[in-house]
Amino acid sequence: ESFLYYTKCYLHESLPLQAMFICILSLPLFHTFISLLTLFLGDVRVRSRAGFETERRGSHPYIDFRIFHSNSEIEVSVSARNVRRLLSFQRYLRSSRFFRGITVPNSSNILDDDYNGQAKCMLEKVGNWNFDIFLFDRLTNGNSLVSLTFHLFNLHGLIEHFQLDTMKLRRFLVMVQEDYHSQNPYHNAVHAADVTQAMHCYLKEPKLSKSLTPWDVLLSLIAAATHDLDHPGVNQPFLIKTNHYLATLYKNTSVLENHHWRSAVGLLRESGLFAHMSLENRQLMESQIGDLILATDISQQNEYLSMFRSHLDRGDLCLENANHRHFILQMALKCADICNPCRTWELSKQWSEKVTEEFFHQGDIEKKYHLGVSPLCDRQTETIANIQIGFMTYLVEPLFGEWARFSNTRLSQTMLGHLGLNKASWKGVQREQSGSGDDVDPAFEEMDSDILPQEPRLS
Ligand SMILES: [Zn+2]
Repeated sequence: ESFLYYTKCYLHESLPLQAMFICILSLPLFHTFISLLTLFLGDVRVRSRAGFETERRGSHPYIDFRIFHSNSEIEVSVSARNVRRLLSFQRYLRSSRFFRGITVPNSSNILDDDYNGQAKCMLEKVGNWNFDIFLFDRLTNGNSLVSLTFHLFNLHGLIEHFQLDTMKLRRFLVMVQEDYHSQNPYHNAVHAADVTQAMHCYLKEPKLSKSLTPWDVLLSLIAAATHDLDHPGVNQPFLIKTNHYLATLYKNTSVLENHHWRSAVGLLRESGLFAHMSLENRQLMESQIGDLILATDISQQNEYLSMFRSHLDRGDLCLENANHRHFILQMALKCADICNPCRTWELSKQWSEKVTEEFFHQGDIEKKYHLGVSPLCDRQTETIANIQIGFMTYLVEPLFGEWARFSNTRLSQTMLGHLGLNKASWKGVQREQSGSGDDVDPAFEEMDSDILPQEPRLS
């Protein structure tokens, strides 16, 4: 036990070192509506090759700086050998099945019982819309995704219903959490935990809860927890213009979402969590999880939204129908994914800062390597307020407006209420900054052209 304790301290202390040498690009972007902003895209790890080996499953979409310029500035100038040794040790620990399997249960060893008690206490209110995922993440020592999802599986009776092996479930969730890039300011495991918590809130809505089957709930929670898996911190246009292999693999279409889905499938199979189910059911599960995750491609939002609108106009949604139910779950996951502006100002503001940090980080890299700065990613010309107001106006308000038509509940009204207040707050900030106000980020008005594949601009 004491070995584990010191191992953990050691790992913890080695993080800054790792951060020094692992350059992560988090450049989420908005794909635009029509092309919408490739907003939540996420994370692509950019690394210098020096001193690094590919990780566990080799699935990470690394970007090799040598493709940009031969004189990489990310040379390891300190002791590369030492760093390599440290990272190898860390990677070994993280990738070892033995350690991986017990990481989470034992992580509580270094926390006060008080913290555990508080985290448990918070889980009693996991269905509250003002649930503070940042606090929960601190109380669980960075294990919010594992703790929260495991709790929800239990709460929804999924462990019993599907006769799940709790050790396998925990191992699966630990692998999921580990495959998020903690260095991404936004697209990390805390975002996944936040989306999973929001999804749980939607599943509890009366219209849904009375018609959903355990199977629906199972798929929804897995899709929410894995929907940005292994996000590299950059958006699709970035992957396309740097000729990244994932862009080629998925033919420049929903590149990140396809990767999140296939990564999730890989972990499902590796964990053996559903090995006791029939092959047919496992295949059905994999494809339905894919349908859910692919729906989070924000560049496809208009298609989903007009379908949703047509159904609501005709009033023909019938939740006894499995296809209709799954369509609603797609819409619910879309809402959960971009619900940040519908949270309280204290939570919403933190998310806004994090996502902007990721955008600007992408912009910095693009500038540095003359890749052409993506919309919303230029810290010289953009502000958080402008980006948020555009995001709310073009993406969030239309989606949540329709959602409230479908499910006109107190939760929907609460979300719309926060959305209005938060937008007003950002407008206040905008006025202070520019003296004008009411500016909508032009990047949101050019969304149509943004969806077009971009030519590589490497020279
Ligand atoms: Zn997301």
